This record gives sequence, C-alpha cells and structure tokens, in this order.
Amino acid sequence: MILRMSTLFVRTLREDPNDAEVPSHRLLVRAGYIRRVAPGMYTWLPLGLRVLRKIEQIIRDEMNAIGAQELLFPALLPREPYEATGRWTDYGDGIFRLKDRKGADYLLGPTHEEMFALIVKDLYSSYKDLPLWIYQIQTKYRDEARPRAGVLRGREFVMKDSYSFDATDAGLDVSYQAHRDAYIRIFDRLGFEYVIVKATSGAMGGSKSEEFLAKAAVGEDTYVRCTSCDYAANVEAVATRPPAPVAYDGVPAAHAEETPDTPTIDTLVDHLNEKRPRDDRPWAAGDTLKNVLVVIKHPDGTKEPLAIGVPGDREIDLKRLSGQLEPLEVEAMDEDELRKHPTLVKGYIGPGALGSDGTSGIRFVVDPRVVEGTRWVTGANVEGQHVLDLVVGRDFTPDGTIEAAEVRDGDPCPNCDDGVLESARGIEMGHIFQLGRLYADALGLQVLDENGKLVTVTMGSYGIGPSRAVAAIAENTLDELGLCWPREVAPADVHVVATGKDEAVFEAAASLVADLSARGVEVIYDDRPKVSPGVKFKDAEILGVPTIVTVGRGLADGVVEVKDRRSGERTDVAVAEAAAYLASLAGKG
Ligand code: ATP
Ligand code: MG
Repeated sequence: MILRMSTLFVRTLREDPNDAEVPSHRLLVRAGYIRRVAPGMYTWLPLGLRVLRKIEQIIRDEMNAIGAQELLFPALLPREPYEATGRWTDYGDGIFRLKDRKGADYLLGPTHEEMFALIVKDLYSSYKDLPLWIYQIQTKYRDEARPRAGVLRGREFVMKDSYSFDATDAGLDVSYQAHRDAYIRIFDRLGFEYVIVKATSGAMGGSKSEEFLAKAAVGEDTYVRCTSCDYAANVEAVATRPPAPVAYDGVPAAHAEETPDTPTIDTLVDHLNEKRPRDDRPWAAGDTLKNVLVVIKHPDGTKEPLAIGVPGDREIDLKRLSGQLEPLEVEAMDEDELRKHPTLVKGYIGPGALGSDGTSGIRFVVDPRVVEGTRWVTGANVEGQHVLDLVVGRDFTPDGTIEAAEVRDGDPCPNCDDGVLESARGIEMGHIFQLGRLYADALGLQVLDENGKLVTVTMGSYGIGPSRAVAAIAENTLDELGLCWPREVAPADVHVVATGKDEAVFEAAASLVADLSARGVEVIYDDRPKVSPGVKFKDAEILGVPTIVTVGRGLADGVVEVKDRRSGERTDVAVAEAAAYLASLAGKG
C-alpha cells in the first residue's frame, strides 16, 4: 500500500484549531486526521480512518479469538424495547429521539443491551445453546452534555459492544473472565499505558465491574491505587471503610451554643479554638459535620431534596455523588428552593432539621465515616448557633449512608491495612461488567435448564470505544514534534521522504517504495517535487508514522537515512538492503 503525499487527501496545518484545548485534539486536526462537522461530530479523513480501522481490527481479532461472533444491529431503533427496560425515560436528555412519518418514536442507539437480549430471546430457548458471546462494532449516539476534546467524547462515536449470555452465575464468571483476558490482549496490542480499576456499573446495576483507563493528565476520570496492595479503583467506586462504632458513655449531653458569625467551617473552627479550646488538641474541620443540600432530578422531571452529612474537612465530590445516584441527576440547591424549607437556616443546618424525624422531613444520608458513637459539632438550625457533643445513634439517626465525599491522597486503603491511596487521572477506554438478570428479566429472556425449568438468562456487557481510543492513544504517545503512533495502529509503517530536485533521488525513492509495498509494508511516500525538505520533514514528524526514511544526499554514498520517529535515532542503511531492513522493522520481514 502506497499513499503519495502529492495526491493524499490531507492538509497539515501550522496553526492550532481554536476550539481545541487538549493536545491530541490539536494534533489530530493539524495533522489532517479528523475534521469537525459540529460539536461532538467529526469526519474521519483518510489517515484518521486508517488508524480507526486498525484499532477496530485488533479488537475484532481478539474478540473472534475467544469465540465471540460479530453481528450488526441498526443504529436507528424502535422505542418499545427501551420502554420495557425503563431506559427510554432513564436516559433523559442523553439520547437522540426522533419520529418517523407516522409519528412513531425511535431513538439512535446509545448502547444495545436491549437489542442483544431480544435477539437471543428470539432465536434461543435452551441452556444447551449457552454460553453465547456476540458483539458488534458500530456507531453510537449520545447527546453528551459536554462533548469534548475532539473524538475523545463525541456525540456520534464508535463502540465495540459485546454481550455474554449464560444460564448460571458460574457461567457468567467464566464469560466475564474470558472477556477480561481478551481486553488485556487488546490493550497490550494497542501500545499505550493503561490501568484496570474497579468501577461502578452506572445506570445498569449489576455486580462485578471494571474499567480500563488510559493514563492521561487530561482524562476526565480520577482513579486511585494503593501504595501497598493491588487495589485500584475509579474514585466513583471507592467504598470508604467505615471505622468501628465508638463507645460514647462518657459524652456529655448534646447542647446548642451561641457561635455568632460562624456560617463556614473555618469560622466555626476558629470560634471553637478561641472560645472553647480543647485540652487534648485544637479543634479541626474534621470535628464538624457539614450538611450539604442538593436537589435530585428524576428522569421523569420530578425533583426531590436530599441532605448529605460529611466531615467538615471534606468536600462533596459531585461526580462520585452522581455515580451513586445514576440515572438521577443532581444539582446544588438554590436560594429559592431553600426558602421552601423554613426550618433550614443557611450556614447553620443540622440533623435536627433533617431526616425522616427532622423538622423539614428532608431525607438525610451521611458519609460512612459518620458511624454510631462518633461525636460532632454541627448546625443547630438557629442563626449563629451550633450543637456540640451531638452523638450519632444517641442524638440522631441518619436515613442511610452515601459515598459522596471526595477521596483524597493519603486516605487509608479500603482493601488492606498498610497502604494509602494515591490518585491519578485517566481516560475510560473500556468497561466490562456483569450485568446480571436486570434486562433479561425486563425483556423476558428465559431458557429451559437441564431440569426443563425456565430460568432467566444472566448477561455480561463489555464495551470499548475505538474512536475514543484514537484520541487516547494519540494523547498518551504524542511528543513536542507531533503525533507518534505505536506501530500496530499507525496509519502506515514507513514514511519515505524524497529530498532535493535530482531526478535520481525520485527514481531511487520510487523504487524503494515499490519494493516496500511488494513486501506488504504500508508506505506514505512524500513524492512532492516542489516542496522543501524542511516542510516535508515537519509533515513527517507531525503525521507520526513510526519510521521515517530520507532518500537524498546519502545516495551519493549508496545509503538512505532511517530515523526512528520516537527516539529520533538515525541509522544509515545501504540502498540495496533498505527494503529488507525496513520490512523487518515493520514486522513484515
Ligand atoms: P464516560 O463515563 O466516559 O461517559 P461511559 O461510562 O458512558 O463513558 P460506556 O457506556 O461504558 O461509557 O461505553 C463503553 C465505551 O464507549 C467507553 O469505555 C468509551 O470507550 C466509549 N465511549 C462512551 N461514551 C463515548 C463518547 N461520548 N465518545 C467516545 N467514546 C465513548
Ligand atoms: Mg458516558
């Protein structure tokens, strides 16, 4: 395969596009891989499409290797199956909906659990038909609230989604493990750094759930790893280990005190240290219970207030909170909403006004650290007053717990006794999880088991985003000169640059290129006669093919120069040996 720069449909740009805030997005546009159509919608130009197709092929190979079978559903789907599982409503503004000429409702598929479950129901009826693993590589549509960073978060994007069908839980475990192993092979071949972390299963319910994240500072996901054991988790999925209940026999009775002008945690702690110093140590923010009010929005539009109590030294992490509440949406409670609850006094809200027996009746859930026997300073629901010595389980009982507080570096590991958590950022590349019987139940997917009894099938769901992978791999591998593709996904193996005006140079280059192509090496050939060497080298660098060959001055000595795009290392190779040498570099020797 030969792509000639003189005719290749590509224009490299010297200027960054002004809507691009992430390096991979800038470079994919500047190097002529993608072109924006509208927010979150991109055209794949020839080079970009080649990378996308290579990623898809690696995924396809590895899925086929475990015995999964490829099929293809329409992207345009009828409403009814999504109505049956509740997702027509649960997706809220997140999906594209449309009507046909008769007024019937349709959607553009955001993910296809329903369709896969229904086709299995349609064709299979016995446990003997299972396990079954089927997948597609297909365009998905989601009306993302914040399309971002080019193809990293698109509104139209490509997803490989596979699903496993088993009659038993043990079978699902085997299916899950097979997919996990295939994913490891896929991500190893894609050639960038990734981590596997525990995940929540979001809108879908289900149990075991892991994400494959590309390490990237620009990533929207934060994950933590333990310094001592192998625990790694998306912060959304970190389950705080609650401390043991504390004895509180000697704690004085709860009582309200005047704490004038202390609407914030800092002012409260300063007041306590000045007016009520402790003997053992100074008061700290962690001694206070901060009660935060939010409004939860249900997919059908109804709203409900919720109060969350967290130790005063922690902020609420909205992503973590949303992760717990999905598909419900969360927003901060504004002044108007607050005024509807006259027993709540801003800056001084406390458990007395919260919970099922509180004066406002607002549901009150607390951080898992707020266990029975712990003792807090918190709002008294009176302007300028706080309650001291308020003991959980003695003076109030929350309605439940919730993982909404931020996870911090140095927090104890939930999995071992020695380690602490360290955080980093990543891009979600793949998500595998045990969906269980949720959709099979909703859609009536049952088979006869060995005793002739109808049992509900259990499903696994496994997704990877090939279009997101183009951006994530670019992000993970680029350098100051441009894109720098790992060999397995690069749009070509070798970029041959012919320099100078000499006819002999172009003849030598053309014959090398023909020889390479005959050996199965994929070549970009810069055959442009009137373009300066400087421009050609800059183009070669920004396009990011792993090996750059210069045919030019060295010909007088019978050599071409071979440069490794990543290391910059240069080697002179005899013209006669060049094709064989390059073919072996490309793994095609
Ligand atoms: P995110 O949290 O980043 O929105 P998600 O949890 O919605 O991702 P899944 O529904 O699990 O993602 O989809 C499976 C895979 O599809 C993801 O791991 C990701 O690689 C890809 N993907 C999801 N949303 C997008 C998008 N808007 N643009 C590109 N790829 C996406
Ligand atoms: Mg999403």
